[in-house]
Order: sequence, then structure tokens, then C-alpha cells
Amino acid sequence: MEQTTRAIHMGFPSLEDSHAAAIAMTSAYDFTSAQEASDRFNGVAEGNIYSRFTNPSVEHFEQKLASLEHADAAVAFASGMAAYLALAITFLKQGDHVLLASGIFGTTTHLFRQYFGQFGITATCVDLDDPHAWQEAIQLNTRMILVESPTNPLLKVADLAGLSRLAKHHDALLVVDNTLLSPVNQRPLAHGADLVLHSTGKFIDGQGRTVGGVIAGRKAMIQPLKGYLRSSGTCMNAFTAWVLSHGLDTLKARMTLHEQNARTVAAWLREQPCVQQVFATFSEDHPQAAVIARQQCGHSPVLSFVVDGGQDAAWRCIDALQLVSRCTNIGDTKSMVTHPASTTHCRYSPEEKAQYGICDGLVRICVGLEASEDIIADLQQALAASQKKQSPQQPQQSSAKGQLNQEVAWQS
Ligand SMILES: *Cc1c(COP(=O)(O)O)cnc(C)c1O
Repeated sequence: MEQTTRAIHMGFPSLEDSHAAAIAMTSAYDFTSAQEASDRFNGVAEGNIYSRFTNPSVEHFEQKLASLEHADAAVAFASGMAAYLALAITFLKQGDHVLLASGIFGTTTHLFRQYFGQFGITATCVDLDDPHAWQEAIQLNTRMILVESPTNPLLKVADLAGLSRLAKHHDALLVVDNTLLSPVNQRPLAHGADLVLHSTGKFIDGQGRTVGGVIAGRKAMIQPLKGYLRSSGTCMNAFTAWVLSHGLDTLKARMTLHEQNARTVAAWLREQPCVQQVFATFSEDHPQAAVIARQQCGHSPVLSFVVDGGQDAAWRCIDALQLVSRCTNIGDTKSMVTHPASTTHCRYSPEEKAQYGICDGLVRICVGLEASEDIIADLQQALAASQKKQSPQQPQQSSAKGQLNQEVAWQS
């Protein structure tokens, strides 16, 4: 055999006894016969066909996630937004109407209003925690109710069982974005949701390495989504799925520590004179504490607080942080802050921001897995800086991160 042919056909090691999952980095699959190829393509036989819509690493992640959500099946996508796109194209048609919880992820609202609006799908935003508003907003052509619970950044909560009854009565689907809690802290299907959606680059990944999305539910609901995926190609890749499968192994442990840190940070924030208000689902005075106790089995480490002095003070606080990252993401080992009014929620109108409570002094923090005393120490100096009128000094070499970087440089 010629050199090139040898190299190409040398084969590869079998990984059947590997203790860690292998990654199925392959585009295509060998069929044992023409008959088998035909059977798989025509759905007569099960088996891999092509990695746009069948890949063992992606299926492994889908099955693990479905199991954690107590769902029959799940389907993974290239991103959370790709999952929303799939949802709308699969289950909605021209002339349909959608109810969106107000104050949800800005891009989701934009996708529905702007892009699906072009195809004759209308959307109305409804106050998440007002049952009468949902009753009033639902129309004859409402086919989908879409909520996040809790919402980000204000941690409002939807009564999922109540919304499920309303949706069923009107023959609409209830879709719950469970990104903020993850399946270890809430299982929306158990409270009557038809489908549950995650942006998987957040807590499921847990270390901020990937972008992905997933939808779980009954097999009859997941099957058409898989059909759409085969035609649209907005698939998750094998490597991302592999990272996420491993992320699920540590999900419960991470969420437990995230919550413990978040509780410590929130308790400290509440004692600060320049902090007007702290929003968290574990707050004892949360207006929907009863609903939370009923449907959540844990809490999100996403918190928000209002600092005295509006946007100037909020920005000074954010700019003075040395350990905590300025990052609009959530669900990382690293603590991250953002100013919702000027970033994640900048596409809402001033009236909508006022209505939803996205005020200028609002700062969101996703509490990470660092030692809570280090997070608090950083917040302490940043809050002090926020209350001074001049802008804070640029982070110096003496900052916590600078110090760490110096230590690392010295060691290597
Ligand atoms: C991040 C996020 C999304 C968008 O998901 P991508 O994976 O970034 O496309 C949707 N909903 C929520 C609640 C999110 O946090």
C-alpha cells in the first residue's frame, strides 16, 4: 500500500474501556451495507447518519440533560438563541401570537418582536408576577407562553403551575427558560411546562467555555424539533457536548457552593448603607416567597442590588472592581458583574425599563465559586469608590488580580 493510503486507513484506537467519555469528533459514519444506509436514512433502522443531526457525544449530553429534567428527550442546539429560533419555527406559524414575560433576556424579546414579527407572528409582553395580566393578555390565537423563572436581573418568579393551567385552557404551549436555576434547582416540567429550555453556556457548562442551547420535554414535542434541526443545521458540536456532559457531573456540587456564596454576599450587601435594595430569590421578603418554596429546590447565585447615586455610582462601583470581572455572562466559576440598563437590557425603551424596574443604579452580580470573603472584600472597596464623586483609579499592580498574576509570573 502506498504511504498516503496507509496513513489514511491505519484506523484508530478503540476507547471502549476508557474511564472518561471519548469525543465523537466525526462528520460521518460507516454503514455495513447499502441496505443499512438506506434504512437509517429512511428512519427504518436506528443509528448514526451524519453529525449535523446524529452524533454520539451530542446524544449523550441530550440524554443526560433529559434525565436531569425528568424529560423523555432533549435536543441540543448551537446556542440558546438557536434553540429559541427552533422553538418558533417548529411550533408557530403566520398569524400566531406569543406571550412573553416582560423583562426576560433582551435578545429573546428582540428575536420575537423584530424577526418573527417580519413573518406575521405577534408578541405581547406581560408582567411575570401578575396572574390577571396573563389572563387579560391571552388571545384566541395565542399559541405559546414563554417565561424565564426567575428573571434576570430582578429575580421575579412566575407561578409555573398557574401559567400551565392557563396555557392548557387556551391550547398554547408553556415554555420555561430554566437557565438561571439549572435542573438541579428547578424542574419546570413537573409544574406543567411543555418544554424547558437552557442556554447551556451558563451553569451547565459552569466555567464559561462554550456556547450552546438545549430543549427538553416529551418525545412527541422533541421529535419535530429534531426534524427542524436536520433541515436547519443549527446543531451543537461534539466537543461542546462533551464539555457540557462533564459539566453536568459537577452541576449539583457547583450550584450548592454558588448558592452558599450568594447568600453570604447578599447578607453582606443588605448591611451596606449605600445599597438601597437587594434582589435574590432566597430573600425572606421576596414577594413570591410561597411560589418559590413550591417550585424551586434551590436558588440562583444571580443577585442584583441598587446602589445610591444612579448610573454614575453604579459605573464607578463596576469600574473599581479588581477581582470580580466586568462581564455580561452568568454561570461561571468567576464572579461577574454587569450594569443591566446599559448592557443586557439596553434595547428596552426607557418606559419599559422603568416599568420592569431596570433602574440606573442597578448592578447585577453572578456570584462565583471564589472564597466569599474575597468577593466581599472586592465589593467593599468598589462600593466605597462608588460613593466618591471623582472616578476611581485604574486597577493597579497592587490589585488582587495583579497580585495573583505577579505570583504566577514569578513561579513560572
Ligand atoms: C444567555 C441566555 C440566553 C441566550 O443564550 P445563548 O446561548 O447566549 O444564545 C437566553 N436566555 C437566558 C436566560 C440567558 O441567560
